[in-house]
Amino acid sequence: MAAGGSTQQRRREMAAASAAAISGAGRCRLSKIGATRRPPPARVRVAVRLRPFVDGTAGASDPPCVRGMDSCSLEIANWRNHQETLKYQFDAFYGERSTQQDIYAGSVQPILRHLLEGQNASVLAYGPTGAGKTHTMLGSPEQPGVIPRALMDLLQLTREEGAEGRPWALSVTMSYLEIYQEKVLDLLDPASGDLVIREDCRGNILIPGLSQKPISSFADFERHFLPASRNRTVGATRLNQRSSRSHAVLLVKVDQRERLAPFRQREGKLYLIDLAGSEDNRRTGNKGLRLKESGAINTSLFVLGKVVDALNQGLPRVPYRDSKLTRLLQDSLGGSAHSILIANIAPERRFYLDTVSALNFAARSKEVINRPFTNESLQPHEAKRARGPEEEEIGSPEPMAAPASASQKLSPLQKLSSMDPAMLERLLSLDRLLASQGSQGAPLLSTPKRERMVLMKTVEEKDLEIERLKTKQKELEAKMLAQKAEEKENHCPTMLRPLSHRTVTGAKPLKKAVVMPLQLIQEQAASPNAEIHILKNKGRKRKLESLDALEPEEKAEDCWELQISPELLAHGRQKILDLLNEGSARDLRSLQRIGPKKAQLIVGWRELHGPFSQVEDLERVEGITGKQMESFLKANILGLAAGQRCGAS
Ligand code: ADP
Ligand code: MG
Repeated sequence: MAAGGSTQQRRREMAAASAAAISGAGRCRLSKIGATRRPPPARVRVAVRLRPFVDGTAGASDPPCVRGMDSCSLEIANWRNHQETLKYQFDAFYGERSTQQDIYAGSVQPILRHLLEGQNASVLAYGPTGAGKTHTMLGSPEQPGVIPRALMDLLQLTREEGAEGRPWALSVTMSYLEIYQEKVLDLLDPASGDLVIREDCRGNILIPGLSQKPISSFADFERHFLPASRNRTVGATRLNQRSSRSHAVLLVKVDQRERLAPFRQREGKLYLIDLAGSEDNRRTGNKGLRLKESGAINTSLFVLGKVVDALNQGLPRVPYRDSKLTRLLQDSLGGSAHSILIANIAPERRFYLDTVSALNFAARSKEVINRPFTNESLQPHEAKRARGPEEEEIGSPEPMAAPASASQKLSPLQKLSSMDPAMLERLLSLDRLLASQGSQGAPLLSTPKRERMVLMKTVEEKDLEIERLKTKQKELEAKMLAQKAEEKENHCPTMLRPLSHRTVTGAKPLKKAVVMPLQLIQEQAASPNAEIHILKNKGRKRKLESLDALEPEEKAEDCWELQISPELLAHGRQKILDLLNEGSARDLRSLQRIGPKKAQLIVGWRELHGPFSQVEDLERVEGITGKQMESFLKANILGLAAGQRCGAS
């Protein structure tokens, strides 16, 4: 009977896993490669480790009830039918002779590289008390386990990757907590009491108030970790002299900040979890407090089983919130992490039932699919910079703050800026709905968050409005060009005085408007006997003298041909120059082809370089091309000249 299932596909996956494991063997071979934004879903990897007989427990008189078959499978006697065995297949099976290095290099080291890609990874040691979870995770000075090995490698890797001259600056912090009787206790600050577990808008699990110590060497790590481990709640039971009665969670965060533009930041979290064993109260002889502890531990592990089942069956509700342990593991199981579950089992017959139940749990866990994603955003002071050149501040990037303290300073509000606008909209409307129904409860979004969201929403709406106006302006310009072409065909050029920004976006486009090319103006201006004349009104044969009686708008709309004297042309240029040198951003916007962005650029240039000496200097303004400068002159000099004439007449 194959309890673990053995399809072709699974074999292929396991072969891939072992290949990855082989390639990951050896220390410090991790590399920061292939930082893909959305890697494919990663199945929870499951390894089983069978410990040897310990403490003089006989091997001959008490033969093992479990036997390894190969590097991935094992069999155990079937208690219902002694003629049969139950067979299980996993991503890896480590027999009683396997070393700490085998487990680390084979199953743990390969997932650590994801941390440098800004993804989460987790290692969970599961199994009955006394089966070797703490040995696997922590080990001893002679046989260090997963935790010291992973820390050693990670710190080495981050030193290499974050060295001066490399594109990213890296820093590592650690937190260490235990869940004891459904309380979250900070082992680095035992006085802090029960802490709450929260989830941010991206689904990341957070524990506000949890101590976070920067570590840059293994000595740093030991300095915090060793005394904290002594704070762990341990008690003696008949099963295990130093049985852990709590779930111990070591959280290692790798924070990365890009040194050059676009100044991204990434955070990868590594959970290293030594779960408490599931207790059989009848065998441990637990009473009183111990019995209560066992109950709590069993509840957490029972919920863990329910979570795994719900994920396997694709149920809409996964009961993560039903226990602290599962809430904490939310982004490690079916969440965003690359996870490896190491199920520890013991060979002794007295462990038989616990072993079968651990193997069954492990077999169910390997069906769980995680969806790892890269936790990447812009560094807070760069997010603004990226929004657009209008808001760009010229200058060298701020010197990088000490990464650990910088990440601590990151308020949840800053993280909100990366919230999906659709989600934001939904939250706000839900909030409004609740308010309209007279909900007495606290608003969904706490006040500062709420204000920020409303602000973000307004900014978003304004952006949309600007986009809409830009499109409209483009349409109008295209229309004008088309009309110009038409005019050319009809040999009836008209000229237009400059339109204010508001007029352009107005509903009434000017029909026969033609802007005369600059070359032509200069030719006309060069004519020795040129004088300002309004020569003729082609359409209506209006007399020159009657012009004064017309409204200015009417004058502009009419099809007038103008001839401009060099003096007036020079006057027009001077007028523009004066505006460029003295006009406010608002004044500048009244010119043709100058929008708010360009007006700002001109004012900025002037502040930096002093006054423009000639109108052509506009080309020197960063963000204004020679072509744009020319079309600006065409549109404005003539316009101003015409305006001057009309105004004067
Ligand atoms: P758990 O944490 O699951 O309760 P422990 O890690 O404390 O179990 O292991 C129980 C005992 O078995 C300890 O004395 C430990 O040193 C020993 N042990 C566990 N696994 C191994 C192993 N692979 N090799 C040698 N001794 C082991
Ligand atoms: Mg233990």
